[in-house]
Amino acid sequence: MQFKEVIGNGGLKKKLSSMVDGGRVAHAIMLIEEEGWGGLPLAVALAQYMSCPNKADGDSCGTCPECNKFQKLIHPDLHFVFPVNVTAKSGSEKKPVSDTFLPVWRELTIRNPYFTEEQLNRELGIEDKVGNISVAEAKEILSKTNMRSYEGGNKYIIIWLPERMSQEAANKLLKMIEEPFSGTYFILITHSPERVINTIRSRCLSVQMLPIEGNGANGEVSQYFPIISELLTNCLAKKLSAMLDQNEDLVNLGRERQKEFCRYSTSFLRKIWLTKHGLEQIAFINSEESQTVRSLAAALPEPFFEKAFNHFEGARVGVENNVNAKMVFCNLTNLLFVSI
Ligand SMILES: [Zn+2]
Repeated sequence: MQFKEVIGNGGLKKKLSSMVDGGRVAHAIMLIEEEGWGGLPLAVALAQYMSCPNKADGDSCGTCPECNKFQKLIHPDLHFVFPVNVTAKSGSEKKPVSDTFLPVWRELTIRNPYFTEEQLNRELGIEDKVGNISVAEAKEILSKTNMRSYEGGNKYIIIWLPERMSQEAANKLLKMIEEPFSGTYFILITHSPERVINTIRSRCLSVQMLPIEGNGANGEVSQYFPIISELLTNCLAKKLSAMLDQNEDLVNLGRERQKEFCRYSTSFLRKIWLTKHGLEQIAFINSEESQTVRSLAAALPEPFFEKAFNHFEGARVGVENNVNAKMVFCNLTNLLFVSI
């Protein structure tokens, strides 16, 4: 993956390449993004740039043997860590680690590096479970960082969603992330920096990414857009029973999709809020959303927003903690209704 293949974030790519050129790369970098913004391809492009012997004009050459191995994600010193869980695909292994699923991960990343957590879970076959980065994984990382690099150059550990790391796993990794062996680089990609264990977060150089214009890489409107716009419209019209009827659809989504719905609703509310405050140019509104966003921005009262953000976040946490979905969404509906 070359920088030029990564969509958007041009300024950031320049910053990263000049960091490499100046020999000032931090040993642990945390890219902060939202789903679909391209943190993963950017991380791979950075590692490839650092390893390419023929880099020029702020990008890797894309054709040398090193670049070739990065393009196929098979470079022996490029390691991926991501949340996993026990599934049919993990076979008889009791404690699967990322490497158990490496072929699936590579195939998905090459096909569409802007995938969401939900898409990954579907590929791994763990739709109804939460993936996690376990102690077994942390041990695996430590043994990799203790080995000499295969090709005599740098070693890269790309950790996708460090917020899924257990406390125990984080404790094991702390020292290595703080003082890695020379030539070892950690690149973390998070969607929720506030949920990354603080001791890990504080040891990384945080880099904020920007959204790709439109909505995600493909510019398609989210499947949750009709649900949330109807919910907010019903809420404005004080139609509580219509809102409660909508709960049925939400309850049937399944846990991972319910969380995705909550996350999308929060970002949708942010777009409405920005539009209300005349900041539409940084709200990255999809053309299909645009009319609804504008009319909701005109109609929703200012105090509603902060309350609604909290209610959706509370619902997401409820789903994550296995609270009964009917209760979560009934509660959410009532809270939204009284907040308007
Ligand atoms: Zn190259």
